Amino acid sequence: MPFSHHSHSGQFCAHAKDSLESCILQAISKNLRVFCLTEHMPRSDPRDFYPEEVEMGITPQHLIDSFAEFYETAVALRDKYKEEITLLIGFEVDYIRPSMLAEIKQLQETYSFDMFIGSVHHVDEVAIDFSEELFHRAISAVEAVDSGVDIAEAYNQGTKIERFPEIQSTASKGEERLFEVYFDTQYIMLTALKPPVIGHFDLIRLKCNDYKADFRIMKSVWEKIVRNVKFISEYGGMVEINSAATRKGWEYPYPGPDILQLMKEEGVRFVLSDDSHGTAQVAFGYEKSLAYLEKQGVEEVWYYEWIGWERGIKDGILRPEDRYLPKISPQCVEAKSAVVKDLRGIVPA
Ligand SMILES: [Zn+2]
Ligand SMILES: [Zn+2]
Repeated sequence: MPFSHHSHSGQFCAHAKDSLESCILQAISKNLRVFCLTEHMPRSDPRDFYPEEVEMGITPQHLIDSFAEFYETAVALRDKYKEEITLLIGFEVDYIRPSMLAEIKQLQETYSFDMFIGSVHHVDEVAIDFSEELFHRAISAVEAVDSGVDIAEAYNQGTKIERFPEIQSTASKGEERLFEVYFDTQYIMLTALKPPVIGHFDLIRLKCNDYKADFRIMKSVWEKIVRNVKFISEYGGMVEINSAATRKGWEYPYPGPDILQLMKEEGVRFVLSDDSHGTAQVAFGYEKSLAYLEKQGVEEVWYYEWIGWERGIKDGILRPEDRYLPKISPQCVEAKSAVVKDLRGIVPA
């Protein structure tokens, strides 16, 4: 409970609710000790806009300006509430096509961040978590690119789908093929960015036929998952236990038990996230996340804190001696561990 490493607010994200400050106040009232502010990176290509953004007439410049305002607001709020809560400033990656890498580098040159979330929300340029319709469109897009058929006219505002060249071709079809391309895309993102926190690792399951289907029986999919997990373990990335899945109807958070067990065997560290998009979702489903971890035999989770700052898990309101906030930088935060069972019952229902 005391931590969420991934959040959005309606002030800076068209599909979220509430102001950033009200989300932070909610995090404080839910006894969170660390809340990472990880707004989506600005998308520069209108082809990637979500329907509500198109409806609102949003332009790429709006998203750039909105991110700048997010950053400025976040910097002010982390100071305002430093005694009550550690607010870390980050962003969430989109990895839609090869040109994203340069855009991410540019963002990292423009702003300092404490951390960021490495996520994949698109496969062959189609959003895979937005609706069932788009999920099925993604399957068609993948099969079309595989077979060299040009479906661009119908699907992508007349432009050709730009697949990451590293994506491996196989003979698989349908969902299984979509899973393969998703995990290849994730690997390309992981190797390019080495994100400190990996977002909703198996998001590709959200709109699929059966989210409980075990990936271990899909040989080629599982090989890619093992490769990705080993890579995360090697460079020391942390994987979020993301409770957004439970508010979308799952019995457990991302990632599912097949992947969680593999990660556990590979020594991957976990962090807690609510991926909240408004006050009602702050720390949502944390008892379920913690119960899931206990059931799966995961005894500790990790969290970020400013180096040299201590907050009690249960009563840790920091007293302001002469505390100065550190710089916003990965060098000024450290990962610490907490025992899962100590975290039960802290977030009020
Ligand atoms: Zn996401
Ligand atoms: Zn998110």
